[in-house]
Amino acid sequence: MDKVEAVVLSGPGRPLERREYAPPRPEPGGAILEMVASEVCGTDVHLFHGHLAGVPYPIIPGHVSVGRVLETGGPLFDLEGQPIAPGRLVTFYDVFRICGQCWHCLVAKAGTRCPHRKVYGITTSADEGLLGGWAQQIELKPGVRVLPLPEELSVEDFMGGGCGLPTGFHAVERAGIALGDTVVVQGSGPVGLSALVFAQLAGALRVLVVGAPKARLEAARRLGAEDTLDVLEERDPAARARWVQERTSGRGADVVIEASGNPAAVVEGLEMMRDAGRYVVVGQYTDAGDVGLNPHRHLNRKHVTLTGCWGYEFTHLHRSVQMMARFKDRFPWRSLITREYRLADAAEALRDMERLAVVKALVRP
Ligand SMILES: [Zn+2]
Ligand SMILES: [Zn+2]
Repeated sequence: MDKVEAVVLSGPGRPLERREYAPPRPEPGGAILEMVASEVCGTDVHLFHGHLAGVPYPIIPGHVSVGRVLETGGPLFDLEGQPIAPGRLVTFYDVFRICGQCWHCLVAKAGTRCPHRKVYGITTSADEGLLGGWAQQIELKPGVRVLPLPEELSVEDFMGGGCGLPTGFHAVERAGIALGDTVVVQGSGPVGLSALVFAQLAGALRVLVVGAPKARLEAARRLGAEDTLDVLEERDPAARARWVQERTSGRGADVVIEASGNPAAVVEGLEMMRDAGRYVVVGQYTDAGDVGLNPHRHLNRKHVTLTGCWGYEFTHLHRSVQMMARFKDRFPWRSLITREYRLADAAEALRDMERLAVVKALVRP
């Protein structure tokens, strides 16, 4: 191959462009992957609308991907010390250059807030190279953590979870679910659906999902939701909170996980939660505006544990992938892939994702 093609988003609202690159060579400690599949997720829609701060347009979108190792810059090993040879099917932690040396990394132990953090397909410029998944090849920089896909997992299994898999896993970890808890998940996109699965594996007695549209709620029921509420049919937030109260002896859910992206959902979720419950906000990845809440009623008197959840660390990717491999027959993540698109049709994939016509869209070079 003498040219490598990529899809470039040059700025918010601009049409996607094709760009050709010279075939990349691996840096020492790095690797080149031949892309097998990348995803189109809600974040890509936000990137298209310019809703995320600090994005160095032009970018090659696509942050969670699967590829086949083409070439490595010297020996490459996984975390178990096993060599990763050319031909191996792998994914990788899309965040790199977490410095491990700053105040956030060392004192706060909050790696996802390291100011030096860079993310493939989001905070990497297309001018710096093939650093996004909507391309025929991708360059893995030295230090990028490569994760070989377990034997049991196909590309479609893993990509059916996509970036929602470790994100949902992280949210459930933050929620501290106890055996027998009733959990409400607000939002039925890929993050909410993975949170639904991991909440069950964490010991939830039952999980209720509040979201839309229908196809996503059907997916939620396939993945074990006890009941679902369509927010396009029940438009009254008070009635939605009542729907949860009716299913929890009037008390509200022990745990609520917000994965909707709608700021108003945060107040609504607090209304759905029992006193002294736990609330995790993971869906407000972009700034969609402010909401008003009543600090007395919603926080103080409610005795709430309110937790934010930003990004995920390698541990969440690693553990969520092993869990998926173990439980893929019970939870058919791969059924979440609604459609696959060629690189040339990336714009259509983005449009379909924007109007929620698909649960999970893949881009396959
Ligand atoms: Zn740092
Ligand atoms: Zn994503």
